[in-house]
Amino acid sequence: MSSLAPEPGGKLPTWDELPPGGVSEDAGATGRRMMDFWRGGGHRPLLDLNLCVQCLHCWISCPDNCFVLENGRVAAINYDHCKGCGICAKECPPMVNAIVLIEERQFT
Ligand code: SF4
Ligand code: SF4
Repeated sequence: MSSLAPEPGGKLPTWDELPPGGVSEDAGATGRRMMDFWRGGGHRPLLDLNLCVQCLHCWISCPDNCFVLENGRVAAINYDHCKGCGICAKECPPMVNAIVLIEERQFT
């Protein structure tokens, strides 16, 4: 999807032009650059699809549009653009806890 950001001086989108839930379908600059280096000293979210109940909170909440949907269901995390902010893990319902943050250095 192309960006909904207006050109300078342009008009903002109306409510019916926004994607459902206001989800960020275009991560802007971070969607075009590799952002994985941001996680260097931080954390990587790990997704357990066996626990996931497909509420889509992570997909809606990720500021960099990292969650890959297949047939409307969360299928994976695109780590190329994940900066390790941890929002997805916070937004995953506590009783589900399908996303855990692991120290990035454990993968190197
Ligand atoms: S930690 Fe989660 S919310 Fe943050 S950028 Fe990575 S996938 Fe998105
Ligand atoms: S927030 Fe958690 S339970 Fe909901 S879709 Fe994402 S991983 Fe699955």
